[in-house]
Formats: sequence, C-alpha cells, structure tokens
Amino acid sequence: MAKYDIVIIGSGLGGLECAYILSKEGYKVLVLEKNRQLGGSLQIFVRDKAIFDTGIHYIGGLDEGQNLNKCFKYFGIMDKLKLHKLDLNGFDRITFGDDNDEYWHAQSYPNFIEQLAIKFPHEKEALINYTNLIQDVCNYFPLYQLREDDAPIIGTKYLDVNARDFIASVTKNTRLQSVLGGTNPLYAGDGEKTPLYVHALVANTYIESSYKCVDGGAQIEKLLTKNIKANGGEIRNYAEVTKIVEKDGVVTHVELKDGEKIEGKNFISNIHPATTMEILESTKIKNAYRNRLIGLENCSSAFIIDIVLKPNTFKYINYNIYHFNRNDVWTGIRFTDEMGPDGYCVFVPKSSKSDVYAESMTILTYMKYDVLKKWENTFATIPNHDGSRGKEYEEFKLKKAEQVINLVAQRVPNLKNVIQSFTTATPLTYRDYIGARDGGLYGIAKDYKDPLRTFISPTTKIPNLFFTGQNLNLHGVLGVTVGAIRTAGVFIGQNYLLRKINNA
Ligand SMILES: Cc1cc2nc3c(=O)[nH]c(=O)nc-3n(C[C@H](O)[C@H](O)[C@H](O)COP(=O)(O)OP(=O)(O)OC[C@H]3O[C@@H](n4cnc5c(N)ncnc54)[C@H](O)[C@@H]3O)c2cc1C
Repeated sequence: MAKYDIVIIGSGLGGLECAYILSKEGYKVLVLEKNRQLGGSLQIFVRDKAIFDTGIHYIGGLDEGQNLNKCFKYFGIMDKLKLHKLDLNGFDRITFGDDNDEYWHAQSYPNFIEQLAIKFPHEKEALINYTNLIQDVCNYFPLYQLREDDAPIIGTKYLDVNARDFIASVTKNTRLQSVLGGTNPLYAGDGEKTPLYVHALVANTYIESSYKCVDGGAQIEKLLTKNIKANGGEIRNYAEVTKIVEKDGVVTHVELKDGEKIEGKNFISNIHPATTMEILESTKIKNAYRNRLIGLENCSSAFIIDIVLKPNTFKYINYNIYHFNRNDVWTGIRFTDEMGPDGYCVFVPKSSKSDVYAESMTILTYMKYDVLKKWENTFATIPNHDGSRGKEYEEFKLKKAEQVINLVAQRVPNLKNVIQSFTTATPLTYRDYIGARDGGLYGIAKDYKDPLRTFISPTTKIPNLFFTGQNLNLHGVLGVTVGAIRTAGVFIGQNYLLRKINNA
C-alpha cells in the first residue's frame, strides 16, 4: 500500500502550491526536490553578504482584493510577506538608445493612462483604448480573476492574436507602440510569436499593483514550506527523481538518483513536461504525444550579471529599467551573440538593511543557448565552483559582462565606480540549477499561430500522472499559481477550490 496519496516531483512554486492545497485537504503529500535549496526559481543566493533573486524580481496583483493577494491569503502567507511597493507613477521605466526621455508605466489603469499621456498628449484616446482592450482580454481568462466559470481555459477569444500587431493596431505612434510593449522581457516577447493574451495577462497584473519582495522571493518558499509541514506534508531535498515508472497503465513509483523507490497513488510533475517524458518509463504514452512535448520550443534564455555594490554608494531606485538600443522592442530576442546585446533590464533588489542605499543590482540581457554549445556537456551547480566549466568559459562570461556593463553605464551614471564585485549566470546556470530546458527563462514559448499546441493540460494519458508549474498556462508567480489551481482542482474540484480562495 503506497504511503503517499500525492508525490510531487520538484519544489518550484507550482509544486509547493499544489502540496499546500492538497495537504490542506487531507491528502498525504510528499515533495521531492533535487537541490539542497527548495523553491526552484524562488531561490535566493548570497554573494559578499548581498542577497540576489534567482527568478523573482517583482510581483503584481498583491493589493487588497486583487487575485494574487487572495491566493496568498488562502496559502496563509500574505500577512507574513515582507513586501515593498514600487513607484506608483513609474514602477517600470522604458528607455531607448536614441532618446534621453524615460517612459513610465504607472500602477492602476487611470494612472497608467495619465502618466503616459504626459509624454504622448495626443495619444490619450489610444491609451484608453489600449487599457480597455487589455482588461477585456483578461476577462476571457476567468481563472486569472479567480472566477468560477465553466468557460474552458482554451477556446477563448484572442488566443490567436499577435501581441505586437495588436499594439500596432491601437496606435500609429511607433514610440508609443514600443513603450507599451517595452516590458516584454517579462515574457521573452518575440514579435513573430508572442500572443496578445500573454502580453495582456502579464501587463495587467503589474499595472494592478507592483511589489518587490524585501530581501528576496525565497520568503514565499519558506512560508509555503512551513505551512505544508503544518498540514502534515513532507518535503525532501537532495531527492532527484531519475525515473517515473508505469505498470499496468498507472504510475506505481518514482526512482531517485540513489536507487530509492518511492510509491504513491498519484504523481504531479513540477518539472518541464519534456523532461518528464524523458524520465517516464511507460509504453502507455504514444510517441506522438511524447514527441510533441519534447519538440516544443522553449523561451529564449538570458545572461545575468549580479552586482554587489560598494556600501552606501548607489541610492536604491524604486523602479525597474527596460532599455532598448533601438525603437524595435520585439526583435532583440533574435540577436546573436556576435551582434552584442540589443538591450537590457535592470532590477535593484530591496534590502532590509537600508532605506536609502541599494546593496545589489541585477542586469538581465538575452542570450541564446546555442552560444554555449561548446560547454553543453559540462554541469555545475556548486556555489563558488566557478572554474568547473573551464577557463575559456570564465573568459567568455567576463567579456560578455564587460560588454553589458559598458552598455548599462551609458544610462546609469557612475555604475562602474560603485561595483564591488559581480557574478554571472548563463543559460547553462539555469539549466543546471533549476532544470530549465535550454536554459529557457520561462519554459515553453507560446505562439499565437498555433496557440493550442503550447497549452499543456494538467492531466496526461496516464490517469495518475499530472503536470503543474510554469509550462501549464503561463509562467510567473501569478501564472504558476493559476496552474496550481488547475492541477489541484483536478483532485478536489476547481470551483470548490476557487470558493475557498475567494473566501480566505
Ligand atoms: C531570470 C528570471 C527572472 C524572473 N523574474 C520573475 C519576476 O520578476 N516575477 C515573476 O512573477 N516571475 C519571474 N520569473 C518566472 C518565475 O520565477 C517562474 O515562472 C516560476 O518560479 C516557475 O515555477 P515552477 O513551479 O514552474 O518551478 P521551477 O522554478 O521551474 O522549479 C522546478 C523545481 O524542480 C526541481 N527539479 C527539476 N528536476 C527535478 C528532478 N528530476 N527531481 C526533483 N526535482 C527536480 C528544480 O530543482 C526546481 O526546484 C522569472 C524567471 C527567471 C528565470
């Protein structure tokens, strides 16, 4: 008799949220995590005493009454999170290489319109139209509003609309078009592919409200973990699942790297669906299904520079910067390494140590996985084990970092003088630490030309094997939370769960 009702593979946000929901409902749950640290992209790390986030720079929808606020209340973590609200009038600031102006995205729809109308006084009508349409698109995704609704998540209006073309249809002003799409690194925006609904759901959550996690996003993992354990759930780290084994049509157990077998009644995979297929030993899954999942393209990856700032030299800025060398914000993702970075994002973490000065800064720029092909067969996860991919790799990273820092320094005065030290992360870092396929930032890339192909169902062809995590509907804290509601909803009923969340 299996000891566990639910075995969850991976302790990313989606895995932990499913673990919380199902353990709260009386299921005996076990979470298996390959790393020492739990949380996947929620993890933080420390360099020279400064805290850095792996993958949570800011979160939306956390004001009273908003969707993520309600979910976090249900998870019992909302009142314990240490949050810092970003600048109301300009939480995201977009800049362009040929232009000294900054274009601000503001919180709340009326303010969003008002702030941009200062720069684009003749475009107020277009801005009103844009914000109305964005909210209309979101309305077609009831789960994102925690609405009990029988409308299916797929088959809705707007799925096959291109984000770039939609924005261009709202205004002829090409600068405003770029400003409206200017935070697209949040979803690795690609002009040829990104669907409007991805742009709308992500933009909407941050316009609703935008917060930084003080001292990093790992607090979400820590609080969830505590609550899962209080519900009787178990979590094991250093527990890498290497096989998922099916017998007589159902998964009977998973096998860990050291050979240990863990039986369960149901299994939820919080790891990439393609990776799940690769470790699944089963004849029940048709090759067409397997190959479809394995063949799906992943989002672009990134090169990230995490800078420790000299103490008391750089004043904390309460906003994020999105910079583009050119006016076109939709093609930077296609730049090859030889062409250099086409833009960057700057995120300044909020530390509890000072209200005035920042202790660190993260710079993100796109990088293709292919650029690192020659180091593809290396594996490195041990902190401070930087030499493990070899000297040439270290030199490559250093050269790249200098190139990017030089670009950012053109906009951020004095940057080079305030750097105490820095570390870098490449697509290989994300691949090895989180299991991100091709180092992809946000999992499977969505394509408006074939929207249904990239929608992953929480259920699989095997009745007791399920998916959760960023590859289900959408990445990001909200996207993954909605995915967890879908997955856990299969067990306990989605509308029942939504009622609980709305009444939390
Ligand atoms: C650079 C970057 C910046 C981001 N910024 C933001 C942001 O500002 N705001 C926002 O909302 N979102 C942001 N995101 C997206 C967000 O972090 C992710 O969408 C989300 O955390 C993914 O959660 P997940 O549940 O899919 O799990 P993941 O985070 O992908 O975690 C999966 C877990 O499974 C584990 N695992 C893998 N293989 C195995 C195995 N075989 N056995 C056991 N365990 C295994 C991994 O170690 C990992 O812990 C960012 C992402 C990145 C990469």
